[in-house]
Amino acid sequence: MCASDQAIVIKCSKCSSGVVPEDTENNSRLNLPADAIINLDHGDPTMYESYWRKLGNMCTVMFTGYQSLSYFANSKNLCWFLEPKLEEEIKKLHNVVGNATVEGYHIVVGTGSSQLIQAVLYALSDPLNEANPISVVSATPYYSSYSEVTDFVRSGLYKWAGDAHNFDKDGPYIEMVTSPNNPDGVIREPVVNKAQGMLVHDLAYYWPQYTPITGPADYDIMLFTVSKCTGHAGSRIGWALVRDINVARKMVKFIEINTIGVSKEAQQRAAKILEVISDSCSQTVRPPELDNFFEYGQHLLTERWKKLKDLVEFNELFTLPKFPLQYCNFTGDFTEAHPAFAWMKCEEEVDCEKLFRGHKILTRSGKRFGSDPKYVRISMMSRDEEFDLFVQRLSSIHGIANGN
Ligand code: PMP
Repeated sequence: MCASDQAIVIKCSKCSSGVVPEDTENNSRLNLPADAIINLDHGDPTMYESYWRKLGNMCTVMFTGYQSLSYFANSKNLCWFLEPKLEEEIKKLHNVVGNATVEGYHIVVGTGSSQLIQAVLYALSDPLNEANPISVVSATPYYSSYSEVTDFVRSGLYKWAGDAHNFDKDGPYIEMVTSPNNPDGVIREPVVNKAQGMLVHDLAYYWPQYTPITGPADYDIMLFTVSKCTGHAGSRIGWALVRDINVARKMVKFIEINTIGVSKEAQQRAAKILEVISDSCSQTVRPPELDNFFEYGQHLLTERWKKLKDLVEFNELFTLPKFPLQYCNFTGDFTEAHPAFAWMKCEEEVDCEKLFRGHKILTRSGKRFGSDPKYVRISMMSRDEEFDLFVQRLSSIHGIANGN
């Protein structure tokens, strides 16, 4: 197939030709030894592989050697590097899921939403011409990358100012509002609420597999990512929905200076993936072999949370957050949240991350989220085999005070 036009084929699975970068592409079993180190520190969304593997060639995207040479994707669009097909599929998916308003918003695509976080900090702070860097805050426990990204290049435009609960300075500031929150899955509102505040809503996890969809979000700046929506973190595609054209323009400028746009191959692949999941939600378009993607993800996470909660309930050493039952407009059911991470608390005076490391389970310490070392964040998005091994090992860890 490739011989005639030298096409590069990117498939979801079962590649018979073309590019197959990792051997896990063809092998779902990791065959982990019983004493393997289980890495649940990163939020690597590999649990979704099982869904995409079943679809075989349905998501194949082909590129010939003569395609996608230009830097430009659509020179008439404000975001001139945004592939029209991706724009269309982003809008369609939000309408299908009902989790965000797209009417009246500009879409800015980024190399992951990580790049968009940097773009938005620049876009909000640069026009203010302040003598001192603008404070960037988020309520603890906050996504650990915010502090790292904000201070990494020691920008003169903005500076990390920590926990939003302790912020009492006058003047402009940027508050990152992550909802549902990473690490604890809680639905959040802004906490500073001062006149000159600028809000960035990071909605990476506002999808039905993680949380009930209670209505379309319509904040000024909203960030989403393919990484947590479909599991395609490796494609590095995120998008921002931005109401103010000047903010959108500045974000586009940042990405132009930073990477002169975003990979077209990655955008086209992401567009295809989004198209397939929109189709999977439609009674009319959905082929019989296609499971509703969000129901599949929700089912997997519900099962995992059940296993984890059942264990923790009878273990005096650990506790987990509780989530309310809420009506989900997407599923038409009352459901609880099943977050992408378990925010686990150790009820004894121990460093929880160290405790788990002693059992060859890598987690992320609460300290990284501006919180206490009694807490750890544990990814719930690993492959089945890793999750099962984790649960098995967890069942052998008990209270130190009880002599175990
Ligand atoms: N925001 C939040 C809240 C996240 O959890 C993540 C991924 N861990 C990101 C942004 C960045 O996602 P990506 O760069 O993979 O799109």
